Amino acid sequence: LFAGETEFLKGVVAMSGLPPADRVEVCFAGRSNVGKSSLINALTGRKGLARASNTPGRTQEINFFTARDIYVVDLPGYGFANAPVAVVEKWQRLLKQYLQGRQTLRRVFVLIDARHGAKAVDEEIMSLLDSAAVTFQVVMTKTDKLKGEALKVSLDKTRAALAKHPAAYPEILLTSSEKGDGIATLRAIIAGIE
Ligand code: GDP
Repeated sequence: LFAGETEFLKGVVAMSGLPPADRVEVCFAGRSNVGKSSLINALTGRKGLARASNTPGRTQEINFFTARDIYVVDLPGYGFANAPVAVVEKWQRLLKQYLQGRQTLRRVFVLIDARHGAKAVDEEIMSLLDSAAVTFQVVMTKTDKLKGEALKVSLDKTRAALAKHPAAYPEILLTSSEKGDGIATLRAIIAGIE
């Protein structure tokens, strides 16, 4: 998270592969193409770091990075349009087990494209997080693509959608990996999580 101090640790395909739950963990989730890799790269100051998670074969793994004394976890973009049912089911089972069973998981950042707002798959993961009682915080991405009023409309809509979710952290973060907006704020939030 911390420039030059983030390393890829491992990709996990089963609960038995999780690293020991011995430190604070934060997680990034979002639909494919939401800008998750760009955001993780901007946060860590390491271009290409999160690309590891987007390479074929890595897309159905829970990808762990170490950053100073915390784990940063990259969940693959959900909503695999073309994956076989068995693959999707296996992945959903792992995701559920991980989110419900990981004691040290402090917060999930749910990324939502500022232009598109929360979609059905975002609602699904937010409901899963509600039932697992894992706090999540919405991070709107690509805010540079929207101007003033449009951004406000999108923000209001997302805020209204969050009202239904007890596990939602009330503050929504606005980010642009392209312009760097919100990156320092997000970094500080992560550093402050205990
Ligand atoms: P991922 O699939 O969620 O990892 O998404 P990527 O990080 O690969 O980004 C998907 C696309 O959106 C790429 O073409 C990026 O260049 C673009 N993108 C990502 N973040 C931003 C942003 O903050 N602003 C703009 N304008 N484009 C972005």
